[in-house]
Amino acid sequence: MSTIAYVGLGSNLKAPARQLGQAVMALSRLPQTSLQAQSPFYASRPVGPQDQPDFVNGAVKLSTSLSPHQLLDHLQAIELAQGRERLRHWGPRTLDLDVLLFGTEVISDERLTVPHAELENRDFALQPLLDLNPELQLPDGRRIVELRTQCPDNQLRKLAPMVGSD
Ligand code: AMP
Repeated sequence: MSTIAYVGLGSNLKAPARQLGQAVMALSRLPQTSLQAQSPFYASRPVGPQDQPDFVNGAVKLSTSLSPHQLLDHLQAIELAQGRERLRHWGPRTLDLDVLLFGTEVISDERLTVPHAELENRDFALQPLLDLNPELQLPDGRRIVELRTQCPDNQLRKLAPMVGSD
């Protein structure tokens, strides 16, 4: 059985847009999974410490028969493969991949909180979700479009698509 899952991507180190493009390629190659769509990328001011570069964020829509925890394992392997650095909490990072939504599942255990715990506070996650599916709702029925209007503003700027980057 396949489930539609939404994965958020973020980076603010080492050519962030290229990190995201590379991560999308890796996600397109996951087992038991097909990449359905990719959002535009957005630049935003960092949450937390301000003495760090702007972030680039986006999201992808996947159809997968992996379990949520198997998907998380793969996301963490991709982060590591791209040399993820965690310099400090809410600090700069090479690549951050989050399970934003996994079908209508609600998960809360030591490894995984789905929907993502900070989703409703992050315009840089909500806006790419809206781009992928304007009708999207949380499992509790709240609409992403409503949450987007209520959440803090991180000065999102839509980036031009990358063409032919290496
Ligand atoms: P961070 O580095 O801030 O992205 O946090 C990574 C940690 O968050 C990992 O240890 C994951 O087990 C945990 N985590 C909890 N919920 C999620 C989620 N929905 N997506 C990704 N990681 C999650």
